[in-house]
Amino acid sequence: MPELPEVETIRRELEREAVGKRIKSVEVHGTRTVRRQTKKAFIAKLEGTKITAVSRRGKYLVLKLDSGDVLLIHLRMSGQLRRATPKEPVAKHTHVIITFTQGGQLRFVDPRTFGELFVTAKDELTAEVPELAELGFDPVEDPISWTTFGQQLMSRQMKLKAFLTDQTIIAGLGNIYADEILFAAGLRYDRQTDSLSTQEIRRLYRAVVETLHEAIKYGGSTLDDEQYVDLNGKPGEFQEHHKVYNREKLPCYRCRRATISKAKFGGRSTYFCEVCQV
Ligand SMILES: [Zn+2]
Repeated sequence: MPELPEVETIRRELEREAVGKRIKSVEVHGTRTVRRQTKKAFIAKLEGTKITAVSRRGKYLVLKLDSGDVLLIHLRMSGQLRRATPKEPVAKHTHVIITFTQGGQLRFVDPRTFGELFVTAKDELTAEVPELAELGFDPVEDPISWTTFGQQLMSRQMKLKAFLTDQTIIAGLGNIYADEILFAAGLRYDRQTDSLSTQEIRRLYRAVVETLHEAIKYGGSTLDDEQYVDLNGKPGEFQEHHKVYNREKLPCYRCRRATISKAKFGGRSTYFCEVCQV
């Protein structure tokens, strides 16, 4: 599932690829991807408009249109945005095709169809998706100070991994990056938030920001399922730099004594080093 670095990678590409372009026509196939409004309404609100900006709210992409509406794209499990030319054959599971007046296309491909697209007025966005109003801070778009971060940790009694992946506290983090961040900070997934020393709080916050920026630099992570690719169909490269995620029984890069352990936490796999993380 794409997390903040993957969605941010796509946002940056969309900024170069789609901003300033006018939508000539829109095709919608199937009934799952556009489900909050009728296909007809969706198409009518897009055709003839120009994309003026692309922002991100957690894992949501928000494309601003010159009509005052926004096009919201949520990739969820397996959604992919791909640039194409109208001549290219349409891949299986292509649900939406946006053609620009300049000739290029943006296609939404989604085998599992959990992803979605919809168009709404900018001021109605949070009424439409209440989850957006509840999103926590974004460590890349809108970082906070480590002291504010520390207050957030201290005011809660929960395990560190649950804290990092709670979307109402930090927007956009999931299983992979939480594990990588905790390793970088030298902290266990099951440490209590209110047990951290000042030094540990600083280390954790630095790990949050640095790990995400590093992951964006490498275009995000693509796992064996290959469900995440960028606009050009290229996989990310950060998986080659994972220190713990998916590295069970492999030697720890830091201590070189232990091998990476795997545990279950909140129904998901958690990877960590028993020696380096306390
Ligand atoms: Zn280690």
